[in-house]
Amino acid sequence: MPMLVHICCAPCGSASVLRLLKAGYAPYLYYANSNIYPRKEFNKRQAYVRKLAEYFQLPLIEEPWDHDSWLEVTAHLADEPEGGRRCTACFTFNLAMTSRKARELEIPNFTTTLTISPYKSSKQIFAVGSEFDGFSSIDFKKQEGYAKSIALSRELGFYRQQYCGCEFSLGQKKSASS
Ligand code: SF4
Repeated sequence: MPMLVHICCAPCGSASVLRLLKAGYAPYLYYANSNIYPRKEFNKRQAYVRKLAEYFQLPLIEEPWDHDSWLEVTAHLADEPEGGRRCTACFTFNLAMTSRKARELEIPNFTTTLTISPYKSSKQIFAVGSEFDGFSSIDFKKQEGYAKSIALSRELGFYRQQYCGCEFSLGQKKSASS
């Protein structure tokens, strides 16, 4: 079954994509992460997502960096803690794009690798995703997803970032991987 997979970064994508392949899905990878700041970091994560697509021999669809549009819906929430309302707005921004792309490509289902991170609430992500038709609530944390992503990233030489993504999370540096 085809599945459009929003890939937040190569480490999170590694174990998530492997799990989808083992379950019989045909993943289409989708890199749409205008939340990432600065642009150099966006480009770096994108380069490793390309390596991920190459490794699994999967199609990759990429969106340009449009951080200004992302700031329009999140800048007023700059002081929110990680996991708060700014992150809900951020998930909505990226999942709305993924939903639109899935419709455009006539792929009936989509999901996101964001749920693999122990620093992110799968419940919060599912609440956002459920606003869109075709969203599949897959909790990639389960089946030891995060531990597997670390092992696989190490094996494949993927870069693992030290902060979630936006400039507001840069100061907090709470998460080792988005
Ligand atoms: S901390 Fe991460 S999830 Fe939250 S707004 Fe920033 S980039 Fe998005």
